[in-house]
Amino acid sequence: MFKSFLIKYAEIGVKGKNRYIFEDALVRQIERALENVDGEFSVRKVSGRIYVESSGDFDYEETVSALQKIFGIVGICPLVQFEDNGFDDMAQRVLDYIDKVYEDKNISFKVFARRPRKNYPMESPEICAELGGRILDAYPEMRVDVHNPDVKINVEIRESINIYSITLPGQGGMPLGTAGKAMLLLSGGIDSPVAGYMVSKRGVTLEATYFHAPPYTSERAKQKVIDLAKKISVYTGPIKLNIVNFTDIQLYIYEKCPHDELTIIMRRYMMIIAEKLAKESGCLGLITGESIGQVASQTMQSMRVTNAVCELPVYRPLVALDKQDIVDIACKIDTYETSILPYEDCCTIFVAKHPSTKPKLECIEKSETHMADKIDELLEQAYSTIEVVEIQ
Ligand code: ATP
Ligand code: MG
Repeated sequence: MFKSFLIKYAEIGVKGKNRYIFEDALVRQIERALENVDGEFSVRKVSGRIYVESSGDFDYEETVSALQKIFGIVGICPLVQFEDNGFDDMAQRVLDYIDKVYEDKNISFKVFARRPRKNYPMESPEICAELGGRILDAYPEMRVDVHNPDVKINVEIRESINIYSITLPGQGGMPLGTAGKAMLLLSGGIDSPVAGYMVSKRGVTLEATYFHAPPYTSERAKQKVIDLAKKISVYTGPIKLNIVNFTDIQLYIYEKCPHDELTIIMRRYMMIIAEKLAKESGCLGLITGESIGQVASQTMQSMRVTNAVCELPVYRPLVALDKQDIVDIACKIDTYETSILPYEDCCTIFVAKHPSTKPKLECIEKSETHMADKIDELLEQAYSTIEVVEIQ
């Protein structure tokens, strides 16, 4: 019965003069998402609202599911739309609508009528009262509750007439493409895919870097990261994934530096490499899945030392979340099952038994001088052997 949807967006409604930029970005994202859904759709922006309309048949569930993955949409209202054929016709359509949508009529309701088209012969309060009366006549089990109704029946008189009463939840956030690009350090764990999703939800497009250490980390571990990138790209749009061969750098750190400092030094080199790639492709920041205190390399002291190698801002959206909260988001975005597959990553192979939890920047920098001989060459080699996977 539904041929169209009213798209509700909250925050982007308050952007003043730049509002059209956000709306146009949202329209583009909706069009892109619906390309993969069976059916012909048109997306229309009319007086501060966005409508998705279909002229022919389409898969309702699939369409809603696609719309529910788009950042910037807070609610999706399936609409019944028709031409104005007088009040009696409209009232009958409202009754039909209620009959189809609410099988159980033991509900309270309120009619919200709006009349943006001012030449309609009745005013809004009159329309509400008259429609309310007809609903009560037709369905005596229904009752009016103006304060806390089970169902709000919206009737809008525009060029055509819209009826809707259901609002399906959207992702919220800001439309992709309205906030620049950032480089996600994407591992195969639970946290970093969630971190990428969260920052992207604010309208940020993503590029990603994964540090691979063959033969210590397997092809399957790499495939897992590619799969995770695919999973989040459903929300974040296409991702260019840089796969950096990190083995020689890790072995060199292992050879030259105190073992309780391995993790922190390794993390610093990851940041150095990711930042260089980020700057080359115009990213405005880095994103990691770190959360205070989760592991030795994520104490405030460690993060301070890791951060010291970066000039770009490092966004850590999980910084204050508990693990369970992160897991809940991972389940919601369907990355959890992939993340918990047991393939080792490079962080778990070269860990010390007792990693330092309170590293001092001066000590770490001093240890790193032991690598002066070969580190530049190894970095060059890592940059020149990057494998790029375009995630669509
Ligand atoms: P995750 O669940 O994201 O793997 P984690 O709890 O295992 O995180 P760490 O191993 O301390 O935490 O890594 C912290 C962050 O550093 C990760 O969230 C990720 O952003 C980045 N990172 C760690 N290992 C890699 C890697 N092999 N490739 C890319 N980024 C990595
Ligand atoms: Mg990890």
